[in-house]
Amino acid sequence: MTRVHKFTNLLGVALPPAALVLGIVLLWHRAIGPLVLAILLVSYVLTAGGITLGYHRLFTHRSFQTSAPMRAVLAIIGSMALEGSVITWVADHRKHHTFTDQEGDPHSPHLAGPGFGGAIKGLWHAHMGWLFESVGQAEQERYAPDLLKDPTIRRIDRLFPLWIVLSLGLPGLIAFAIAGTWWAALMGVVWGGLVRVFLVHHITWSINSVCHFFGNRRFDVEDESRNVFWLAPFSLGESWHHNHHAFPTSAFHGLRLGERLTDPTGLMILLLERLGLIWNVVRVSPERQAAKLAGAASTVRTVATDAATSAKLAAANARHAATGAASSARFAASEAAANAKHAAAHAGQAAIDSVASGGADPVGA
Ligand SMILES: [Zn+2]
Ligand SMILES: [Zn+2]
Repeated sequence: MTRVHKFTNLLGVALPPAALVLGIVLLWHRAIGPLVLAILLVSYVLTAGGITLGYHRLFTHRSFQTSAPMRAVLAIIGSMALEGSVITWVADHRKHHTFTDQEGDPHSPHLAGPGFGGAIKGLWHAHMGWLFESVGQAEQERYAPDLLKDPTIRRIDRLFPLWIVLSLGLPGLIAFAIAGTWWAALMGVVWGGLVRVFLVHHITWSINSVCHFFGNRRFDVEDESRNVFWLAPFSLGESWHHNHHAFPTSAFHGLRLGERLTDPTGLMILLLERLGLIWNVVRVSPERQAAKLAGAASTVRTVATDAATSAKLAAANARHAATGAASSARFAASEAAANAKHAAAHAGQAAIDSVASGGADPVGA
């Protein structure tokens, strides 16, 4: 990939948000103010989180388990990102993991032919073009049978038109309820609805385009997935996408310390787990990560095996010591009991002897 490809790619992703920031500055106190900006931010985090936490990590990869009401809430707020109904999204994304960057992947940027033209065509296809070509074509019976079996999720899936209306209408209603003017309601719809959907869409699509083209890799995986640090906060951690392809069921896409801190969805999972709202959170041990590192795979695997063997040995020793301690304790107790019995017998004998010899009554009185 040439520098020109990378630069074009960067511009395509960075320009719309930059234009948006400029728009906010120029229109401050005319078409946008603190209220509408707050609605934009909250609706962004909620609906993008509905995609990352709900659609992606829960429904697609089953990285954790949760209650039926939580599943419903996550499916609904995910739907309000307007990236398609939940079962369609999950089926497409599971197909992406099945055929990553090969024929059959709904949105790989690497299948549009060689050269610069192929790269541009591929990036366009991965970012948006696939929405006009291959979206929704993954067979749901094959890729999402678990969700088809869930009546609540099926109902939420069918109600997608309702979530579209709410997604655009609610920000307007909230702005109207707070500011009390029709202008505020309109700005709520524009910024908290349309602009927010535009931003969430482009960030999600960048995972499909940029994060399969442009960034760093370290694991031994046979696809073109990449980690892209500068997209991490905006994508709520999803741009640690190479990590995700290496360990798809991991609840955490950020694996090293710096990555974990810039994986807001992962941080949210920790919080929800602490609150008892989700459970059976899938984690990838440092040993499994080390074993999958590119290049050093076999060495690291040996080290990991050695470490595992030492750990097993230590555990066996500990068990042995514990058994020893328990049996000594048991032995000491039985010895003490025998001594006590012995002493009691002695005392009894002494008493009998004493009565027999006309001494004091051993029973008292
Ligand atoms: Zn991917
Ligand atoms: Zn995935």
